[in-house]
Amino acid sequence: MREYLVDAIILKSVRARDADRIITLYTKQHGKKRVMAHGVDRAVSKKRGSVQPFSYSKLLLRRGREIDSIDQGEPIEIFQDLRQSLEGLATASYLAELVDNFTSEDDPDPVVFNLLLDAFTVLKGDCSEVLSWAFELKLLSQVGYCPCLEECVFCDQPVKGDKVFFLPEQGGVVCNNCKTAEVPAILISLGSLESLKALMRWETRMLHQIRIGMSAGREIQAMIRAFTEYHLEKKMKSCNFIDLLK
Ligand SMILES: [Zn+2]
Repeated sequence: MREYLVDAIILKSVRARDADRIITLYTKQHGKKRVMAHGVDRAVSKKRGSVQPFSYSKLLLRRGREIDSIDQGEPIEIFQDLRQSLEGLATASYLAELVDNFTSEDDPDPVVFNLLLDAFTVLKGDCSEVLSWAFELKLLSQVGYCPCLEECVFCDQPVKGDKVFFLPEQGGVVCNNCKTAEVPAILISLGSLESLKALMRWETRMLHQIRIGMSAGREIQAMIRAFTEYHLEKKMKSCNFIDLLK
């Protein structure tokens, strides 16, 4: 069959030739896909509404020799709440960039799809930090980089004390006995560690109930960012935009 239907979340839209755009999708059926949307920048295009970044759409795709293209599209949900503020949009773009970076094409993962769908459903400007931390931890865990927060990464003993250290390269916490000055480490208080565990465990729609203070927030942010950048081997583009909004 040359045509096939997908449920897709729009991650990214990049202008191509004329009025065409290359759209990066995360689909329920096929995972990430890059597809061509012909003529979509024309005012008369019927596909326009269905390929807006951060929308959830039903798309009819047509197989092509080099790249598949969008034949028809219908938006299912445009997530109005996340579009009400710059912070909401910046966070959505950060989450989309994470999914783009940590997934491969044609490798479907329904957990990743639902994670993103749930996150966009509850995303509003005011709860965006907690949501994006939880999303990042859950996504990394799902793609094989689950941080180890219970036992020391070297000796497997439970970590104790008011403060612990997280090692991005080892992907977990280290106890006082095993910690050496040479390995890059991020200091986190025990309270922040408990918050991190809650962020990983709690369902996305319950996350608005989690309260995290400023200093714990700074520790959590530093830990998650270092962990992500270690695995990505680069900085996330949309980080700079989010930092500007703080
Ligand atoms: Zn140890």
